[in-house]
Amino acid sequence: MSNQPVFVYNKEVLQYRFYQEHPFDQFRVLLAKDLIEQIGALSESQIVTSASANVEALQRIHREDYIQAVMQLSEEIPDPDWILRAQQYGLHDEETPYFRGMHEAAASITGGSIAACEAVMTGRAPHALHLGGGLHHAFPNKGAGFCVYNDAAVAISHIRDKYQARVLYIDTDVHHGDGVQWSFYTDPNVLTYSIHETGKYLFPGTGFVNERGEGEGFGACVNVPLDPYTEDDSWMECFKRTIEQTAAVFKPDLIVSQHGCDAHAFDPLSHMHCSMRIYKEMPRIIHEAAHTHCDGRWVAIGGGGYDIWRVVPRAWSLLWLEMIDHPMLQELDSTPDLSLPEAWIQRWQEQSVHDLPQTWLDNVNLWSPMPRRSLIAEQNLRISTLAMEYVR
Ligand SMILES: [Zn+2]
Repeated sequence: MSNQPVFVYNKEVLQYRFYQEHPFDQFRVLLAKDLIEQIGALSESQIVTSASANVEALQRIHREDYIQAVMQLSEEIPDPDWILRAQQYGLHDEETPYFRGMHEAAASITGGSIAACEAVMTGRAPHALHLGGGLHHAFPNKGAGFCVYNDAAVAISHIRDKYQARVLYIDTDVHHGDGVQWSFYTDPNVLTYSIHETGKYLFPGTGFVNERGEGEGFGACVNVPLDPYTEDDSWMECFKRTIEQTAAVFKPDLIVSQHGCDAHAFDPLSHMHCSMRIYKEMPRIIHEAAHTHCDGRWVAIGGGGYDIWRVVPRAWSLLWLEMIDHPMLQELDSTPDLSLPEAWIQRWQEQSVHDLPQTWLDNVNLWSPMPRRSLIAEQNLRISTLAMEYVR
């Protein structure tokens, strides 16, 4: 077994684009990769490309008629009959509209997540990262929340069957990981865990603590819905205790984690008030859980993240640095105001709509504190305790 983690990257990821002003912008993958390269933390030998997922693989999760619709609506000029049916497949709203080449781009992303899982399960690499993936809202018969094919669900289903593996799915996106949860709701061998802003106020409106799985799968679904305006300390307290307990009880063979980074205070689509600190600390906890419970087998994928300049590149770079045990992370512990590479800032500042950050972490002392901080933290802790009641 090689001890070198792999970085799955396909150029087609940039073709996954709804329209120019759409908030979901995969250019962020390139920005993150460039930041990692600027600090010399990614070598050619670590990068792997992958084949697109074929229809047979997609059918593990998606209905045949839905795949057919996605393919038809990918044409330069789709057939009017299919355009009429786009609505029923969730591909005709402003949020997740069909676009030319949609099938090819989404199938490429799905292939990347399968390849990342295969790299780890075959022992080629201890860990694998696929930042293009994490499209957790797609359903068997419809697209939703910017997601066309559910790469995470397809890859997990493939691994579970091929290797008879128990998979722990950890979703740290600020939105509930609904598509993955419902795909494995009755499956005792896939535990889906999601920490997110409560569905009372945020898309997709699910992920409550009483969603715990069904039948054989009861107890293999964990939801930790947190209150709006949650800050770092409370988020981390809830995440750490629930993940450590869940991993210890479930005893996975593989961890697949989704790293949407939209709980950051700068993110325009949620109401949380976390800083870059949680995107440094969550990967560490997941990494430790992987080595404690499943021989280190860990696959990480991307997800949401709509401040593509100030938040996503730093968050996803920190994730990769954790994966490769990069010494800069220790340096950050002692020097929290460590600077980003000047060359990266110089290269992108002109295109950025914001002033780019100068440091890896945020100085939260400069932010105004949230009102009701202790009430929010108490409520979150109560929910975390409830979330653990039936885990198995
Ligand atoms: Zn999200």
